[in-house]
Amino acid sequence: TNETAGNTTLFTKIINREIPADIVYEDEHALAFRDINPQAPVHVLIIPKKPIATINDITEDDRELVGHLYVVAAKLAVQFGFAKAGYRVVMNCNEDGGQSVYHIHLHLLAGVTMGWPPF
Ligand code: 5GP
Repeated sequence: TNETAGNTTLFTKIINREIPADIVYEDEHALAFRDINPQAPVHVLIIPKKPIATINDITEDDRELVGHLYVVAAKLAVQFGFAKAGYRVVMNCNEDGGQSVYHIHLHLLAGVTMGWPPF
């Protein structure tokens, strides 16, 4: 129960298995699945099961949950074998940040040497 609990997106449908996804990890609080339009050889989205709309909606109550998303990212990096080579984890916020789905998600990108800055 929170101010964004009523915010449902297609990611809620993925959590509820109402639409298919290539799920690579699941636990009580988080789900990870392959991005439908990958921007790198490996592109996984890691989401909390709790539907928080944007980074702006994260509260102190979500501290453990949001931290957990990074723990999942690090686990997947080891599991997929790119932890040592390196990877990128990013979360977009609102229009200028490039957010298109309003249910927070970490992008886990790997399998290529990435450039910086992103624009
Ligand atoms: P954002 O732009 O909000 O940071 O990232 C949203 C991501 O969700 C995009 O990379 C987009 O390709 C991905 N996406 C959108 N719809 C679907 C879908 O139905 N299934 C999957 N697996 N990914 C999706």
